[in-house]
Amino acid sequence: MTIHRRITNSAGRVQGAWPVLLLLLAAMAVPTAGVLWFMTQAMHNERLAVRQRLENAYRGRLAEVQQQIEGYWREKLEAINQTKGNTPSGKNFADLLNAGTSDSVILYDSNGRPQYPFTEGVSPSVTTTGPVPATDAWQAAEKMEYEQADPAAAAGMYAAIAEQAADKHWKARALQAQARCLVKAGKTEAAITLLLNLASDEKTRNATDQNGRLIALDANLFAVQLLKESADPRFEDSRFEDSLQTLVERLNDYVESTISFAQRRFAMHCLMERVGRKLFPTLAALDLAADYLEEPDIPAQVGQLLPTRIPGVWQLASADKTVIALYRQKRLLEDGTKIIQMISTDEDITIQIQPPEKIALDAKTAFLSEPAGEYMPEWQLTLYLQGPDPFAAAADKRIAMYLWTAGVVVLFIVIAAGLAARYIRRQMRLTRLKNDLIATVSHELKTPLASIRLLVDTLLENNARDPKQTRDYLELISGENARLSRLIDNFLTFSRMERNKRAFEMTTLAPERIAAEAIEAVRERFAAAGCRLETEIASGLPAVVGDRDALLTVLLNLLDNAYKYTRDDKHIMLRVYAADSNVCFKVADNGIGLSRRAMKRIFERFYQVDRSLSRSAGGCGLGLSIVKFIVDAHGGTIKVSSEPGRGSTFTVKLPATGSGT
Ligand code: ADP
Repeated sequence: MTIHRRITNSAGRVQGAWPVLLLLLAAMAVPTAGVLWFMTQAMHNERLAVRQRLENAYRGRLAEVQQQIEGYWREKLEAINQTKGNTPSGKNFADLLNAGTSDSVILYDSNGRPQYPFTEGVSPSVTTTGPVPATDAWQAAEKMEYEQADPAAAAGMYAAIAEQAADKHWKARALQAQARCLVKAGKTEAAITLLLNLASDEKTRNATDQNGRLIALDANLFAVQLLKESADPRFEDSRFEDSLQTLVERLNDYVESTISFAQRRFAMHCLMERVGRKLFPTLAALDLAADYLEEPDIPAQVGQLLPTRIPGVWQLASADKTVIALYRQKRLLEDGTKIIQMISTDEDITIQIQPPEKIALDAKTAFLSEPAGEYMPEWQLTLYLQGPDPFAAAADKRIAMYLWTAGVVVLFIVIAAGLAARYIRRQMRLTRLKNDLIATVSHELKTPLASIRLLVDTLLENNARDPKQTRDYLELISGENARLSRLIDNFLTFSRMERNKRAFEMTTLAPERIAAEAIEAVRERFAAAGCRLETEIASGLPAVVGDRDALLTVLLNLLDNAYKYTRDDKHIMLRVYAADSNVCFKVADNGIGLSRRAMKRIFERFYQVDRSLSRSAGGCGLGLSIVKFIVDAHGGTIKVSSEPGRGSTFTVKLPATGSGT
């Protein structure tokens, strides 16, 4: 009981280790947390630094693109500025378009009035012939054509007017009316011949009608239409192709012919629809210009590309504002992309030129954005990173290095803390052991000493001195004395063992001699009634190398335990024999035996299966730990086999030297 309490107390002292462990934990956790914090900071900074470096490099790339774009616009502006709006406008129009300066262009005079295209009324450069004269012949012919609905007769009347007309305009207009009537009268072939003549005749070449339209051009167009519609395949090849070609040439010619903007556009559309070929490179520009002039637009700026009211169309004014160049967004995007491709061949990035409506959409995914330059104030250049994030890859390399360093530092801290913890635990265990030892020693010494004192006192008081009783008492005193010696021997061995001070004196020994000495030491005790010691020592055993006293301690402890833990009718057996290259000492008893669990722990210090039993038998729980220590130091092994209630067998194996004694 007392021991039990003391051990609990000693365990209580181990619990006092918590503050030390907590301190240790803090000593480990604080630097670890510090290292991890520094590392995250460093990683963050590294990412920022790499990003910054890349940003600077890529900003340079954007600046290059910006410069190129500005160069592009300077060239355009130069071309526009060189054009004078009020000089032959159609030619300027065509020149600018043919040079690819813009998608369309509007030319103004110095008062800001549209010069070309001229969509309202008749252009000042086009002559008109006014309304049809109220002559009898015209009126009669028109009456015949419209009221009497006799186109054949009307055709004849118009032919007569044409014959007599002195003015080329009136002659042409009469011929045009004649052709119209011939068609109405079903004389298509005659009409075609007439129209083709009218179109090619030098005299009527520049004749115009009251709207300023060139009659020859209209006649040409009419003839082409009739030829196209004509079912007769004979004419198709030659006349159709020829007249079509003449017409296309005239329409594409902005220099010589004075075709009005409206007539040119109308004729081009007619032909496009009928012939279905892309014959007029300037038609899209004419349409765009017409669209632009349809309603008043947002004023254009010199040197700045600004939007028009037409979606996807941009405008730029020349320095004197007499020229406004129009650009389709599609073309601007294409040209921008070409410029970008010329500069940036880097596969890691993509640069795009962005119109205003796309800027907001792309703001999140873009790595960098810069204005597209002074000429395109509303546009932006956007740079995207391609594939795996390149700055992340660069940062990752460094971060990996930081991680490794941090890992090594943390590992070092953990190992150091682990070692410190082990050392502290060991020291605490030693302290505990010392405390336990002191407690056990003082307790265990008390019992035999008390017995001895009692016996000696009795002997001193007993004057009768019965010699037999005196001898019995003295034998008891001797027995207690022997027990004390064994205890003290064990304590000393244990103490040396703990301090690693146990030095063994190794000599070559005969196993049978050690066994004999052990038997001699216990003979008297084991000879008592109810105890039988059986010994079986093989002859010719090989020698062992060992410390004589230590090996004797081993055998005495085992024999002592066999005696202590066997109740009545003790049968103890000591066998010494050779097996393989070992010498075996086997101590068997028919005692109380051991459970499986107990067998695993009996070699631990201070372990006792049944404390009260062990105490009454005079044990302190050190014997077997000492035995194991000695056997291990001799390079041997100890094994136990046991069954509760049936006895135990301890077998010590020591390596033989091989030389017999
Ligand atoms: P003790 O000094 O208490 O005998 P030991 O270290 O010699 O200490 O033995 C440890 C414990 O092992 C003993 O307390 C006892 O319970 C058990 N033990 C040792 N030898 C035997 C045996 N031969 N039979 C049964 N139990 C044993």
